[in-house]
Amino acid sequence: MLDVHILPILDDNYAFVIRSNGVVGVIDPGESKPFIDFLDDKGWPLDMVINTHHHGDHTDGNTDLLDKYNAKWIAPKECGTADEVLTEGTPFVFGGTEFQIIHGSGHTKGHVCLYSAADKVLFSGDNLFAMGCGRLFEDTPAAMFEGLQKLKSLPDDVTVYFGHEYTASNAKFSAHILPDNKDIADRCETVLTQSCTIPTMMGVEKKTNPFLIADTAEKFTEYRAAKDNF
Ligand SMILES: [Zn+2]
Repeated sequence: MLDVHILPILDDNYAFVIRSNGVVGVIDPGESKPFIDFLDDKGWPLDMVINTHHHGDHTDGNTDLLDKYNAKWIAPKECGTADEVLTEGTPFVFGGTEFQIIHGSGHTKGHVCLYSAADKVLFSGDNLFAMGCGRLFEDTPAAMFEGLQKLKSLPDDVTVYFGHEYTASNAKFSAHILPDNKDIADRCETVLTQSCTIPTMMGVEKKTNPFLIADTAEKFTEYRAAKDNF
């Protein structure tokens, strides 16, 4: 069983401490202090530092944590020379949990999401947000669409832990671009009253996230361009 703790860090990032069979890891530490405080409080060691992609707000805490705890660094190859490289098609074993690695280019090249089918948990990094998706910095909309289609194929009852609290802005855009969608209108009523919307469920995203509702790369491209100018 995977134990997940959400740590809000920096301005609007979400990072995570995970534990499985006594093995402790952090995902996307954009700074180190909140993790050191959390681990000290629990009395836990740190075995692994895991990154979904190379942006500083997901990696700037790496060095402190790796040095302090003599932890292993786990990341896609685009992040640097990690101890273990995350690659689609090769499972990543974390304690008693096996993660499938789902590659999705677009926000960055080499961005990965981590999915445990047994625990029904997805860490989506900056590829999929509640009612939104990451900005395209390093690849084409078609590449991003392809990555998101893989996430869309996951079961509805998967819990999704995403990288940023952008939900209010995403909700307003969703209602703007799909004004006749009742599921989006209903969800807006809830999320626009909340300051913290993590986690979300894959089934909810399939119904209310325009970037998953988009069923062609062309439609996705149109929505992404509209959001960039919203
Ligand atoms: Zn990012």
